[in-house]
Amino acid sequence: AKRGGRDRVSRYKAELRIAREAFTRISAGLRHAVERGELAVHYQPVVELPSGRVVAVEALLRWTPASGPVPPDEFIPVAEETGLILPIGAWVLERACRDARACRDARAWYERHGTSVTVNVSVRQLAEPGFADEVLAVLECTGLPADALVLEITESVFAGDADALPVALDRLRGHGIRIAIDDFGTGYSSLSYLHQLPVDILKIDRSFVPAEPGGDHSFTLAVLQLGSSRSLPAIAEGIETAEQAELLHALGCRLAQGYHFAKPGPAAQVEAAFARLNPA
Ligand code: C2E
Ligand code: CA
Ligand code: CA
Ligand code: CA
Repeated sequence: AKRGGRDRVSRYKAELRIAREAFTRISAGLRHAVERGELAVHYQPVVELPSGRVVAVEALLRWTPASGPVPPDEFIPVAEETGLILPIGAWVLERACRDARACRDARAWYERHGTSVTVNVSVRQLAEPGFADEVLAVLECTGLPADALVLEITESVFAGDADALPVALDRLRGHGIRIAIDDFGTGYSSLSYLHQLPVDILKIDRSFVPAEPGGDHSFTLAVLQLGSSRSLPAIAEGIETAEQAELLHALGCRLAQGYHFAKPGPAAQVEAAFARLNPA
């Protein structure tokens, strides 16, 4: 038993060392990612059910250093931990607003209501005192209207005791920017104080999208009803099949996102998705 314990400890130490090395490697690389032009923003359509028309696009960051692409789930946590998410997040916001502005201009002839762009924002960014000013300045310099921008934040924003956050959110909402709760249902706070949160849209995490029509979807329904009782539109994430799209629509969900409709791709590819999903 003693022997096994020692093995476990050394295995644990080895894992820690590898994790530390990965952290160091990623943070060293990320530090130069912006200036080296290694970052890109891809877009994934959000569609209306059942028509499949694109109503928004979500901006998703991509990092491709010389050694090959690194998944966001690996580098975003490092960027948050090191604070690099501040310059990187600012870069994403500006890129996304610029692209959205160009896309709106190009599609204005048949997109009567325009489309919005949704940008993921980390708690670290939101906690910066100048964040709201920064967002408003980006809108001003890119010419994107405030009602075309949605900021996605996770429930963890509301978990801490940072009183300043709702103030920043209220200020942004006062200008017409909408706030979406990302990965809704995965945090603790959701059910109890949704009515107090300064938010406009719920994004239902894909772990709540039933894999098969026959499965148990009582929780999906509960989350959707919670949203509709507050008049909050819901976007179902991670829709991969036509059956899932039909089921979510039958449960009362009017917006969806997922590989079934379109995968994330560079801005040029989004144009093609528009042409396919929103025929004139
Ligand atoms: P998220 O915000 O929940 O984004 C949705 C993720 O689901 C994306 O992964 C997207 O590519 C993926 N996805 C979309 N449709 C499907 C589907 O049908 N099936 C499956 N299995 N997956 C689908 P991605 O692009 O790898 O991003 C991962 C996470 O990284 C994001 O999760 C978000 O939390 C974070 N992230 C990405 N870009 C940014 C950014 O600019 N800023 C910040 N703070 N976080 C970001
Ligand atoms: Ca998101
Ligand atoms: Ca999500
Ligand atoms: Ca997520």
